[in-house]
Amino acid sequence: MQPLCEKITSVLRNDYPGQACSLAKSLEAIGERWSLLIVRDVMNGNRRFSGIQESLGIARNVLSARLQRLIDEDILERRAYQESPPRHEYFLTEKGLDLWPALMALMHWGDRYTPGPEGPPVVVVHKGCGGTVSDRGICESCGQVLTAHDARATPGPGAAAYADLPYSPFAARR
Ligand SMILES: [Zn+2]
Repeated sequence: MQPLCEKITSVLRNDYPGQACSLAKSLEAIGERWSLLIVRDVMNGNRRFSGIQESLGIARNVLSARLQRLIDEDILERRAYQESPPRHEYFLTEKGLDLWPALMALMHWGDRYTPGPEGPPVVVVHKGCGGTVSDRGICESCGQVLTAHDARATPGPGAAAYADLPYSPFAARR
């Protein structure tokens, strides 16, 4: 199936000429394979190249290219945490943090239409009260409309099924 995957990737990499649609513009920035998962990892505090690579099980050259693309799009920024040898961490810009509602909607969509037998592997909760966050980014306990800063990902009932995989959702923080 590799040729098909490559074909799809190359389609996503192209422009969408004649598309007067902001969804097409958004996909230009974040529609490449792995891009949203990199954004998810950084949002969850997995900020270093090696940690993201371990979490996603992705080739180094592909990860480098995707990180650079996200930096070029002003979605991520790179900050040095060590000078020799040079080491960096990745942080979301405001533009990147504003992807949080889209990630919440897509995650819940996956939970609904491709559910695992044990339930969701990840449950996002409101830091303030511990309530579950809805697909619209609203706390189901206190009703607060949340941002990325207000929420954190926790292992859900289906997390155990992924525990032995190198790219478990929580592998980077174990
Ligand atoms: Zn709450």
